[in-house]
Amino acid sequence: MTVLCLERALLPEGWAERVTLRLGADGRIVAVEPGRGEGEPVPGIVLPGLANLHSHAFQRAMAGLAEVAGPGEDSFWSWREAMYRFLARLGPDEVEAIAAFAYAEMLEAGFTAVGEFHYLHHDPEGVPYAEPAELALRHVEAARATGIGLTLLPSFYAHGEVGGAPPGEGQRRFVCDLDLFAKLHERCARAIRDLPGGRIGIAPHSIRAVTIEELRWLAELFPEGPLHVHASEQPREVEACRRVHGTTPIALLAETIGLDSRTCLIHGTHATEAERRRFAASPAVLGSCPITEASLGDGIVPATAFFREGGRFGVGSDSNVQIDAAAELRQLEYSQRLASGRRNCLSEPGRSTGRVLFETALAGGAQALERGPVGLRPGASADLVVLDPDHPDLLGRSDDRQLDGWIFCAGKAAVREVRVGGRRVVEAGRHVAKDGIGARYRPVLARLLS
Ligand SMILES: [Zn+2]
Repeated sequence: MTVLCLERALLPEGWAERVTLRLGADGRIVAVEPGRGEGEPVPGIVLPGLANLHSHAFQRAMAGLAEVAGPGEDSFWSWREAMYRFLARLGPDEVEAIAAFAYAEMLEAGFTAVGEFHYLHHDPEGVPYAEPAELALRHVEAARATGIGLTLLPSFYAHGEVGGAPPGEGQRRFVCDLDLFAKLHERCARAIRDLPGGRIGIAPHSIRAVTIEELRWLAELFPEGPLHVHASEQPREVEACRRVHGTTPIALLAETIGLDSRTCLIHGTHATEAERRRFAASPAVLGSCPITEASLGDGIVPATAFFREGGRFGVGSDSNVQIDAAAELRQLEYSQRLASGRRNCLSEPGRSTGRVLFETALAGGAQALERGPVGLRPGASADLVVLDPDHPDLLGRSDDRQLDGWIFCAGKAAVREVRVGGRRVVEAGRHVAKDGIGARYRPVLARLLS
């Protein structure tokens, strides 16, 4: 049995010292004993690992490449065209090398699990590979190589616009009919069974890409596991939904598939007040991707009202333009400050904003990715993020002030060590397999950008 002694740790009950953590052979916590002081010492400030609930790993390789002003107005839609051009050059080896690099960076940045919302299925001509789940399985291999906890969310994508319009040329690599998707999902489920810490769900892409009938079919055919959908990211999507369905996207999803505890709506940026209240009162999770939403000019999610109404949320790195758990939480809070002219929006009177943000996103992310018990408690995976107490932004502080220092100042630079299921995957701030992962990533990038 592995026994660790955490110098200082954030437990569900609060901060504790010299915490003995006993782990089972499966990497799950068997016992937590504050003050006991037995076991292999883990110096530093130990936090439970945060889930990154929304990623499109391949987009990591185009980070920073869509920052040139076009002749027309730049928006999410012009960025999407640049993304479609970029992915035309990606094959299975490229996808795996990029995903492994992105997952190693996520671990280095304080994320211990990822929800991979995977919609890039076919070859550049739009023809399914001989193995229909080829590219999804490459993400499974990337997770295995890095040790990150993967919740694979194969995405169903069939149409180009709300109401079932045919997909465009740039979308041909994503498109499945229901039969092909069922086959692809079955292959993914089989691969996930052999991946330590692997989970599987489904991701109907959005109401742009999936009809109401298809949504109902997917929810019924796959009744287990997380269900993620992009919703209300852009005003154009909301307008199209009103035109075609006479209602708004979140209300439509609530009526079609319900907002239950398996559901995670990604973005929710342009939720109306009525649907925001309904969403907040439900057990579903809001998957906020604040850095990507800022990068794409999506708008500001009404997170403060949603939070005050009791809504659950987690964070995702989405386009992976920047990978940093603390920076996502910071950007979410800062977006609310910019919109409201107030400070400490996603907090409660007298409490540390960093602590409230962290614990809310910890619970929301774990639920959305079905990662099991939340925090360092028996039954949970021993996913640990160790911060450096000597980092200048944490120095001289203690407990919640150190958490605030990490989230609002230091970010990933303060992450010293990370363990997933008790196994050390980041040492001295660097992934233990980064040399090999980087050696495969660099030529891929050179080829893609040549
Ligand atoms: Zn997305």
